Amino acid sequence: MEEWFTKVYGRMGSFPKKQKLNGGAEYRMEPKLVKSKFIGSLLGTFVGDALGMPVEGYSATMIARIYGVLNEIVHGGWNRPGCYTDDTQMMIGVAESLVKCKRFDGNDLANRFVDNFDMTRGYGPGTMRVIMKLSEGYPWDKAGAELFDGGSYGNGAAMRIAPIGVFYHDESEQLRDVAYRASMITHAHLLGMEGGAIQAYAIARAVRTPAGILDREHFLNSLRAFILDDVDIYHEKINRIQDLLEKNPTSHEVVDALGNNITSFDSVPTAIYSFLAHHASFEEAVVYAVNLGGDTDTIGAMTGAISGAYHGYENIPTRWLEKLENGTKGRDYIISLAEQLYKIWSSGNTTGKW
Ligand SMILES: [Mg+2]
Repeated sequence: MEEWFTKVYGRMGSFPKKQKLNGGAEYRMEPKLVKSKFIGSLLGTFVGDALGMPVEGYSATMIARIYGVLNEIVHGGWNRPGCYTDDTQMMIGVAESLVKCKRFDGNDLANRFVDNFDMTRGYGPGTMRVIMKLSEGYPWDKAGAELFDGGSYGNGAAMRIAPIGVFYHDESEQLRDVAYRASMITHAHLLGMEGGAIQAYAIARAVRTPAGILDREHFLNSLRAFILDDVDIYHEKINRIQDLLEKNPTSHEVVDALGNNITSFDSVPTAIYSFLAHHASFEEAVVYAVNLGGDTDTIGAMTGAISGAYHGYENIPTRWLEKLENGTKGRDYIISLAEQLYKIWSSGNTTGKW
């Protein structure tokens, strides 16, 4: 790790730091509400993934032509309705590792990715290569850096970050560090890790904000303060989100301005916009995100993670929850992981800080 780190950052120590998570009003919330937000974020990932899966790679126009508005979990390709893809499967791995270790442990998380891997879930080729390397015993903090000569900046790190966003929602210093380390296992490019951290931060802020009192301007300003100064592309996207929120853009204009593809900077901002533009309703935000087309399962999953963290579990439509696969590692298992994460977080029973 040290060699690689020095090469990439020219110094050793820790990942780049910015301001603390705080800023803005602090609210005390009922424990029950916080727990519901933990579950909401993890299940929100699953619901968005399952809703978007059947139309992955479709344009907004194609989706509109086939479905009008896609707002039900339908059959998709080779998958049954309500199945999850790699997004949720890797998110499960992140949650399992945090529950078991009660903190971030790169080696354990890498093992989870290897153990859970199921090719039929639609993994990207880069991530598959890293998982193969990890399964051969390659160190967790080296395998990802070798991919694409400098690491991937795909959205594969951000799509699975919900457990870190909720678990560290009040840990300003650690959120970025842990998000970076959890991301670098497969997505070691600075823009990939920053995308993971931004998505984790958006989830953390959504947990900390009681539903119904969101101030979009403040949310965006806190994101600006969080994002590293020299990653211009993300700052530019936040500015575009602000512009779009001030008008009533078409899907086409949103996709043009923010993107809807598999790169982190062309999808994390799209998910954040989908949440902010439709923050009154979990359902509206996730339906909106998926109907933008492109990398629909992941943009749906990321929007679901933020919206679920804001609205809580009870505001996810029951008709969607009922459709979700519920086998060995299905819906109820994910709920139990979120409950365990909440329990560890609320008891302060972590095994040391990263
Ligand atoms: Mg997927």
